[in-house]
Formats: sequence, structure tokens, C-alpha cells
Amino acid sequence: MTRPTNVVCAIAVLLLAACGEPRIEKKVLVIGIDGVRPDVLAEVHTPAIDALAAEGAFDGRIQTKAQTRSGPGWSSMLTGVWPDKHRVTSNDFTPNNYAMYPDFLTRLELIDGQFSTFAVVDWAPLGSEASGGPLLSDTIDVKLDFDGNQIGYQEGDIRSVAAAVRFLENQDPDAAFVYIGYPDVAAEDHGGRSQEYHLSIENADVHVGRLVAAVRNRPTYEREDWLILVSTDHGQRDEGGHGGDSPEEQTVFYLASGPSVGESALPRDVNIVDVAVTALTHLGIVIDPAWHLDGRVSGLGGAR
Ligand SMILES: [Zn+2]
Repeated sequence: MTRPTNVVCAIAVLLLAACGEPRIEKKVLVIGIDGVRPDVLAEVHTPAIDALAAEGAFDGRIQTKAQTRSGPGWSSMLTGVWPDKHRVTSNDFTPNNYAMYPDFLTRLELIDGQFSTFAVVDWAPLGSEASGGPLLSDTIDVKLDFDGNQIGYQEGDIRSVAAAVRFLENQDPDAAFVYIGYPDVAAEDHGGRSQEYHLSIENADVHVGRLVAAVRNRPTYEREDWLILVSTDHGQRDEGGHGGDSPEEQTVFYLASGPSVGESALPRDVNIVDVAVTALTHLGIVIDPAWHLDGRVSGLGGAR
């Protein structure tokens, strides 16, 4: 073995000084679970969500300002504006104003096409032209949609999460959205206090655990700063179903977790429109007041 010469060592020292610490890459994973009542979420066994909340910030007392239907709920969360701006007030997605208020992944692509974006859904209007969609535009780099109405939402969720895990482990997304649909169907079919609904939320938590593990298994994880946001579009009536303005339907949750969240306290008026704005901000996007977004940054700035 030959020892490095003084010249080689000197060059190495200069290079280290020039490069400094390796750059930390900011990344975002948004997990949307349809129709989860926070009071039921608190009752059931959800170790993955509990761990994210323990390491981050959680609010389960939020009153959504959107109609308690899926169309306006997901549109508000993913665009960062309320229905008076995006115009989706039911599960008919047309007319809409996504041209002015695109989903956060599309906005990211429009700002800088170098961002790598990924979305997977199993409720058709979110990703396809069904019912006047899609909410998530074709500008997103990789968009997968499984049709839960055809294959069932339990199977759709399994395929969605498996696809997302593969993508997170093997590709290099900057921002990703994963939709989990079955809890809303379970409540619809069996009731908002039913055993089936409880189990569906516990199973959604297993999916969340798989997604978090996929992020943490990335070979580059140590050089990355992942923000994980988890939220829901509306709650459920006791008998199942939603669309009204009862507390059971209107109460939703917001969860932010990751090194950039730390022990941050969420603002008192945190809401689902904050998901899009917080995700964009974490990725270094400066929110332009001319975009007229309603959401605000919730949960960043408290690194441990
Ligand atoms: Zn819904």
C-alpha cells in the first residue's frame, strides 16, 4: 500500500473546505386517508400514525371549511385553497378552477420541471377524467391510478401502497402523494362506529407504516429531510356517510412529522389547506401572494 502524498492530502483538504457538509435534500410525502374521524382514530390501534405524531405535531380538532364531501375536501387539501376558489363543491369535479389553483405537485412542476413528482390514487376522479376529474394533473411525472370501484378499495389501497413503496425505495421523488380510500367505504357500508370502520383505520395505519419504512429504507435517507404529512378530507356520521355540517362530519386531523417539524406547535387555526402550502414551503418554494393561496405553513421550523 502506498501512502497518499502531501499534495494529495492538501487537495483533499481543499475539496472538503470547498464542499462543506453534504447538502440535505428536502422531500415531502403526503398521505391522504379518506373519511377518518379523529375520535375513532384515537380509539383504535394505530402505532405508525401514533409514532409520527409523537415525533411531530398533530391536531385532531380541526373543523374543515370545505363541504364534507370527498371532491371539495381533497381539492382543498391538495390545492391549498377553499371551494370558493377551486370551485369543486361536490363529487362532480367540473366545473373547477384547477387552471388557476392546481394541485401542489402540478404547481411544483410548473415552477420547476426538475422536481420529481409522484402520485398514486384509487378513487378515479383524483387521477382520471372520471366525474369531471382529474384533480391531479398529467403534469405530474408519475401518476398511477387504480380503480377502487372496479377492484375494491381494500385491493386498490394494497396496490397503491405497494406501488408507492417500490417507487420510494427505488426512485428519487421530491414530492409524493398517496391516497388510501377504504376507511370511507367501510363507514359508508357498515357505519362510522362499526368494527369494520375501526379495522379499516387500523389497516390504513399498516399502510402508513409501510410507506414510512420505505422512506427510511432509502439508501440516501441520511442525506434527506423528509416531511411526512397525513390528513383526511372529512369525518363520518355515526351511522356512516357524510356531506352535512355535524361535528362528526366536519372534524378532521392534520399530522406533520419529520426533522423539520421537530417539536413545533401547530397554529390554532391549522386546517387542511395548509397541507399544500406546507409541502411547497418545505421544498423551498416561496409562496407568492399573487397565487392567493388560503393555506399557511403549519408545523415547520422546530427542528430538534
Ligand atoms: Zn372522502
